[in-house]
Amino acid sequence: STATQTKLLPEVTAFLNRGSLPAFVGGQPMPSTSGKTIATYDPGSGELLAEVHDLTPEDIDRAIDVANEAFVKQAWAKLPVNERGALLHRLADEVERRIAIFAQLESLDAGKIEAQAAGDVQNFIDTLRYFIEMGQHMNPRSTLAVKGHEAWKYRQPWGACGFIFPWNFPFLLIGWGITPALVAGNTVVIKPAEDTPLSALYLAQVATEVGIPDGVINVVTGGGATAGAALSASHKIKRMSFTGSPEVGRLVGEACGRNLVPVKLELGGKGAAVVFDDVSVEETADKLVGAITFHTGQVCCDATRWIVHEKIFDSFVNACVDRMKKIEVGYQRNGSTQMGPVVNAKQRERVLSYLEKGQAEGAKCLLEGGPATVQGYEGHYVKPALMTGSLDNIAAREEIFGPVAYLAPFKNEEEAIEMVNRTDYGLANSVWTPDLGRASRVAEAMVAGNSWINAHNVFAQGVPYGGVNKSGMGGGVLSVETLLDYYRSTSIVRPLN
Ligand code: NAD
Repeated sequence: STATQTKLLPEVTAFLNRGSLPAFVGGQPMPSTSGKTIATYDPGSGELLAEVHDLTPEDIDRAIDVANEAFVKQAWAKLPVNERGALLHRLADEVERRIAIFAQLESLDAGKIEAQAAGDVQNFIDTLRYFIEMGQHMNPRSTLAVKGHEAWKYRQPWGACGFIFPWNFPFLLIGWGITPALVAGNTVVIKPAEDTPLSALYLAQVATEVGIPDGVINVVTGGGATAGAALSASHKIKRMSFTGSPEVGRLVGEACGRNLVPVKLELGGKGAAVVFDDVSVEETADKLVGAITFHTGQVCCDATRWIVHEKIFDSFVNACVDRMKKIEVGYQRNGSTQMGPVVNAKQRERVLSYLEKGQAEGAKCLLEGGPATVQGYEGHYVKPALMTGSLDNIAAREEIFGPVAYLAPFKNEEEAIEMVNRTDYGLANSVWTPDLGRASRVAEAMVAGNSWINAHNVFAQGVPYGGVNKSGMGGGVLSVETLLDYYRSTSIVRPLN
C-alpha cells in the first residue's frame, strides 16, 4: 500500500516540478538548441517524472569546449592536490547530507527500491572519499639520477574526459567513473542514459553550490545515437569511458580508435556461480536468489548461470524455487517490496522474449516467470524465473538483464570450469564451497575480471572491478590503477652538471 511509502521530500518535488530540465554545463543550465526534450518516467508507475533536454551534436560540441576551456584555465588542475581534495570533500559531505534526496530521485527514475538506492548513493560517497585520499599520495613528480643525467617523470591530468553511463546504476556508476578523473584534476562531461538522467543533473547542481569551479562537472543529456555518439566521436575529448552494452561499446571503441583517444569500456556479462556439493544448500540458495533478484536482475555482474553439482542439483533447485515464489514483486517505493519493476517496456519485453526463445530452443522452466501485475501500478513488472537445459541455449549464452537464472548440473571441478568459461563474456563469477583450497583454484581458473568466493556482487574500493573479452577493456574501475589512468605522464631527462 502507499501508506508504507516515505513522503517525497520537498526538494525532490521542487526539482521535478520545473517543467523541463535543461542540461548543466559550465555551472549553468544549458537548453537544447533544437528545443526537443526526452521524457523520463517512473518505471514502477508509468508516471511522467520530467522532460529532459535532448541535446544536438552541436550542443555536445559546445559542452566539450566548455569543459576544455575550464581545463585550460587551470582553475582546477592547478589547484594544489589538498585543496582540490578539500573541495571534493565538500561535495562528498553535501551529497551525504542530501542522501535521502538523491535516493528518492534515483528510486523514482531507475525503479530502485529506496534503501538500495540509498546504498548506491553511499557507495558514490565512499568511492569519492577513497580517491580523494588516494590522490593525496600521488606524487606528481618522481626523480632519479641515471648515467650522469637527472630524469623525472611528471604526472598531469589529461583535460576534458567523456563519460557515458547506462540506466541500471546511474549514480553509483557516475561515482565509479568520474571521481578518479576529478581527483587527478581533469574536467568531465557526463552523458547519463535517457531513462535515468535525474541524479546526474542534480549532482551537477550540487557541485556548483559547494564551489567546484564552473565547467569541471558538466552533464549533457540526450539520445544515445545523437548526443552519446557525438561525445564519443569528438576529437576534443582527451579520454573516454563507456559503461553499457557490448554492442554500443564497440561503436564507442571504434570512434575513439579513429581519434586515438584512450578508452575504457565496462560492458555486459553472463556470469556464473559454481555450487559444489559441500555447501549449505539453504544458505547458498538464499544468497544466489538474493543476487539475481537484486534490482530485478538488471546487474551486469550477476550470476545468471548457476552451475550446480549433480548430487545436490534437485535439492538446490527446490530451495531456489521455494524462495523465488515468495518474493514480493511491487512498486519500488512500497516498504514491503522485495523486487521492483524493470526499467521500461522494452526491457520487460526483452526479459519475456528470452523465456520464449530459450524454451523454443529446448530449455525447460523450473519456475515459469513471466509478466507480473502489481495492483494500482502501471509499471513494468516481471516474475523471477529459473530455467535449465544446455549451456549452448540462447538463454544461457546471451545477457538477459532480468531476474532469470539458468541452471545446469556438473560432475567434477574440471567440467565446472569448462562450463563457466564457455562464454564470450568475462566480467564476474563466483564459486561456492567451504573448501578454500578448491575455491581458490576455481576462482583463478575462471576467465573474468572478478571472481568471488562464497559471495556475489560485493565490491571494495581498492581492488579493480572490470571485465575482459566481450565484457570490456581498459583496466576497470575502483583501484589505484584507475586513478593512474587519469594522469598522463611526461618523462623529462637533462644532463647533471
Ligand atoms: P546501452 O549500451 O544501450 O546504453 C548505454 C549508454 O550509451 C546510454 O547512455 C546510451 O544513451 C548511450 N548510447 C546509446 N547508443 C550510443 C551510441 N551510438 N554512441 C554513444 N553512446 C550511445 O546500455 P544500457 O541498456 O543502458 O545498459 C545495459 C548494459 O550495460 C548491459 O549490457 C550491462 O551489462 C551493461 N553494464 C555494464 C557495467 C559494467 O560495469 N561492466 C555496469 C552496468 C551496466
